[in-house]
Amino acid sequence: MTQSSTYAVAPPPPVVLPITGSDAVFPVRRVYCVGRNYADHAIEMGHDPDAEPPFFFQKNPDNLVTTGRFPYPAASQDVHHEIELVIALKSGGRNIPAEAAFDHIFGYAVGLDMTRRDLQSVAKKAGRPWEVGKAFERSAPVSPITPIGDAGRMEAGAIRLTVNGTARQDGDLNQMIWKIPEIVATLSGLFTLAPGDLVFTGTPAGVGAVASGDRLVGEVDGLEKLDVTVMPAE
Ligand code: MN
Repeated sequence: MTQSSTYAVAPPPPVVLPITGSDAVFPVRRVYCVGRNYADHAIEMGHDPDAEPPFFFQKNPDNLVTTGRFPYPAASQDVHHEIELVIALKSGGRNIPAEAAFDHIFGYAVGLDMTRRDLQSVAKKAGRPWEVGKAFERSAPVSPITPIGDAGRMEAGAIRLTVNGTARQDGDLNQMIWKIPEIVATLSGLFTLAPGDLVFTGTPAGVGAVASGDRLVGEVDGLEKLDVTVMPAE
C-alpha cells in the first residue's frame, strides 16, 4: 500500500484482549480450536476417542467477546456451552518441536466455545464445514489473559463451568488427549503460527444447552474466571 492509498471502506478495528496486571492489551491474529480433546466429551458426542486423532477448526477473531454478555444467536434452537483453556501465543513459526512449545506461550485465558449444536449436527451429517455451528457472532466469550509467568504451564488443574450456580462441566486439564506441547507442535505443522494467535484447547464432558437469562461461570485454577450472561436474541 502506498502512502497515498486510502481505505475504500472503513478498516475493521483491531481485536484485543485485556491482560491481568497490565495496562497493555493482547492483539489477536487468529483463533484456532481443538476438537474432541477430552475422552469423556468425545464419548458423550458419540465418538470413540481412541479411533481418531483430535483435529482443528477456527473461529474469527471478531467472534471474541470480553463484555460478559452472550446474545442468544440467530438461526439456532440448541446453543451449547463448551468451557475451554485458551492458549495465547507471543511468537510462532512452523514445525515447532513439542519441547519448545512453552517458549512461544504468552499466557492463558478461560474461554467458551459456544456452539450452535443443531447447525453443527447438520453440517457433520452432510460432510460440510463447521463455521455455521462454530464461528458465528460473539461465539467466543473469553476472560482476560494471565501471563504464563503468573499462571504456570497449566498442564493440570481444575476446569469447570456452572450454569446458574449448578455444576455442568467439571474436569482437569490433565485429561486432555493432546497436551499443550503436542497441540502447538501439531498446529505449527499445519499452519504458520504467529504472535497474537489463540488456541482453544477443547472441552471436558458435560456440554449442554443454554437459554436466555442463564449465567455461565467458567473457572480454570490459576486464571481469572469468566462470567457470562446469556442475553435475549437481538
Ligand atoms: Mn470446543
